[in-house]
Amino acid sequence: MKRLSFLFSSVTLALVLGHPVALAQSASSTASSATLVYTVKAGDTLYRIATERGLKPEDLLRLNGLTAPALSVGQTLKLPSGPGSATTPPAVRPATSAAPVTPTRPATPAKPASGPAVSATSPSSVSALTGNMVAGVTVRAPVRLQMGDAFVLHLSGEKAGQAEVSFPSEVGEDVRKPAEVLTPIGAAGEYLVLGRVVLGKTTPLTYMVKIGTDVLRGSIPVSALDQKVQHLTLAKTLTDRLKAPERPAEEKVVEAAYALRTPQAWARPFTAPLASTAVSSSFGQPRTYLAGGPVLYHYGMDFPAAVGTPVRAVNDGKVVIAATFPVRGGLVAIDHGAGLVSLYFHQSKLLVKVGQTVRRGDVIGRVGTTGLSAGPHLHLEMRVRGEGTLPSEYFNRLWP
Ligand SMILES: [Zn+2]
Repeated sequence: MKRLSFLFSSVTLALVLGHPVALAQSASSTASSATLVYTVKAGDTLYRIATERGLKPEDLLRLNGLTAPALSVGQTLKLPSGPGSATTPPAVRPATSAAPVTPTRPATPAKPASGPAVSATSPSSVSALTGNMVAGVTVRAPVRLQMGDAFVLHLSGEKAGQAEVSFPSEVGEDVRKPAEVLTPIGAAGEYLVLGRVVLGKTTPLTYMVKIGTDVLRGSIPVSALDQKVQHLTLAKTLTDRLKAPERPAEEKVVEAAYALRTPQAWARPFTAPLASTAVSSSFGQPRTYLAGGPVLYHYGMDFPAAVGTPVRAVNDGKVVIAATFPVRGGLVAIDHGAGLVSLYFHQSKLLVKVGQTVRRGDVIGRVGTTGLSAGPHLHLEMRVRGEGTLPSEYFNRLWP
């Protein structure tokens, strides 16, 4: 097994949205005396909302006090009144009536207000506002990322579907399939490539977009999560699980799931796996599980809940693991395609079988405290090509 750091974890797929995120449909806009209000609907992106009105995406971000272009369905945006917004439909409801569902980033300590605007609480999402051209294709990338972020490169133009994309900075990092050549997903001139920033990385992420013999290279700065190491004191009966004879088999089955590259299976926003999204342990938390042992990252988010609470699929996909293991306990893994796998740990009961197709919101099991777990909770991981990304960034968002 290549990675020691894999002792515990597993699939974390946190998406960091690095590009204008599209959301659900159902929209409206409202006029007030000075500004118009637009309610985000499915399929919207901040980029599109802005450009259709002759606005710059950056200006729309600023007007709404946003640091990221990620939008949620039902979220309201202020639009400037005047010629640029002439195409906006009439107002339907005031901005205050629809509270945007904004995922939180509990792992991220608040930064001082005096810091650079882009490094606020969700730097990864600032994205997609820088553009570059290669062979007639426009490439938009996040302007900043944070450790553990998932993100997308957005390619548009006639030849966008022919692009070969890779992330050369992955070479030499503790990452699966470094600099793998990726084919964009999407259609109709708009193509996307999912990327991810591994935990522990703060060196710039570099990307390469190749179309025929033309090559575009770019670089994105990466900031740290700034979490203090947590030293766990676990009962010996729990830590003994790390040495169980079934451990190699557990890692093998999980690694096989990470290696899948099936077509994208989802077309709707992601949902949270439990009704409550209270978090007991944040994503990316550095930990030691044994006194004097190595520091390992927490690749998922922990959601406390009573034993028996229904666990739901975060989106459509196919069940690729449904079995009980020494560390992950009762585990379900769902392959969503496009290199994205969600994993649900420590369940007391598994209600799906390998090979089964599931839809977003389907109950796949029940919360438990099986495996290396000190109390009832769900540990959720969202893994992009095998690397953990921040789960909460996916909820209530159509991603990418
Ligand atoms: Zn956990």
